[in-house]
Amino acid sequence: MTDWVALEQQYYMRTFNRLPVVLDHGEGARVWDVDGKCYLDLVAGIAVNALGHNHPALVNAIAEQAKKLIHVSNLYYSTPQLELARLICEHSVGDRVFFANSGAEANEGAIKLARKWGKYQKGGAYEIITVSGAFHGRTIAALDATGNEKYYKDFAPMPGGFIHVPFNDVAALEAAVTDQTAAIMLEVVQGESGVNLATDEFMRAARRLCDANNALLVLDEVQTGIGRTGHFMGYQGVGVAPDVFSLAKGLAGGVPIGAVVATERASIFTPGDHGSTFGGNPLACAAGVAVVSTILAPGFLEHVRTVGGYFLQQLSGLVSRHDLAVSVRGRGLMLALDLEADLAGQLQSTALQKGLIVNATGPRTIRMVPPLTLTRAEVDEAITILDACLAECGAKVA
Ligand code: PLP
Repeated sequence: MTDWVALEQQYYMRTFNRLPVVLDHGEGARVWDVDGKCYLDLVAGIAVNALGHNHPALVNAIAEQAKKLIHVSNLYYSTPQLELARLICEHSVGDRVFFANSGAEANEGAIKLARKWGKYQKGGAYEIITVSGAFHGRTIAALDATGNEKYYKDFAPMPGGFIHVPFNDVAALEAAVTDQTAAIMLEVVQGESGVNLATDEFMRAARRLCDANNALLVLDEVQTGIGRTGHFMGYQGVGVAPDVFSLAKGLAGGVPIGAVVATERASIFTPGDHGSTFGGNPLACAAGVAVVSTILAPGFLEHVRTVGGYFLQQLSGLVSRHDLAVSVRGRGLMLALDLEADLAGQLQSTALQKGLIVNATGPRTIRMVPPLTLTRAEVDEAITILDACLAECGAKVA
């Protein structure tokens, strides 16, 4: 039998610390490894498989599109791209879309829009204010926006022009905004740092400061967008609308895609300013149309809110039953459980052995971003396994 782990060690760049499981196929919220073991998947490709695995609407859309056209250049028109752009704009504050291939790339587009805004609408201002705990991606500019030394320390020099302030600190945000500020960029709920919610006050302050200072509010909706928080876009749940927002992850349910969306006022790219070979190609966009149409169908977002609320409530039960579990938080199906000790990695491994996939975002935090189709019965199953894991890991601490 092929030793896939050995092959990875020999041929793949040393970029990932992978868990010891080789996944083969999936159905709904379940995946199976090459040995036939089944797992309940609460990570969903890190908030990507919005419709779960092997969803018929998505699979059919990809298969049908593949038979017609997989790729054409942006030198020409293609229909799935325009259908997806229309769907996004008709259901958001956006008026225009540019498609890219990933979250980092979508953010690069948003950063370029903000820089151009500053250059022409604000006397050459180019600074973008971002916040601590953010994650905007792995390209050089997105790393600078992220502002976490852990990710960028070996890749200097950074492009510069990013000002970092503490998350949810309104006074610090107010103090940072100057006549050099082209934009404020943030996530409604921070994903990679462990599901940290922006306060309503902070979101409103960001909007107010942008309005008062002719700057753009850029929301990174790469993880929060496309139904994840129980609203089509995360900002729709907090009532603060951006000028620009970025999407990726769940947008095409697992087919690589990214998008920068902007209001008409902020859509200031002109031909030649930006581009992409693959961005907006028919295959990815047909997948996107299938995903977005499913998410916008009556009852879908309500399901996310209801099951998400139920999940949060059941996770709170874990906190009351186990000393090791100290708090829970989240919105929709973007949830986290905090532990009292540095045991998140161990809990993640124990859960995997027991057939449950969760994600340790830090030494003490477990994140769950399951398929949005998750059922209450699957939540109950996950809670039963987490109960056992917490008992096992907690016993080791005691
Ligand atoms: N922005 C946010 C909020 C993210 O969570 C991520 C990825 O985790 C990114 C950007 C980067 O996306 P990608 O990995 O597709 O480049």
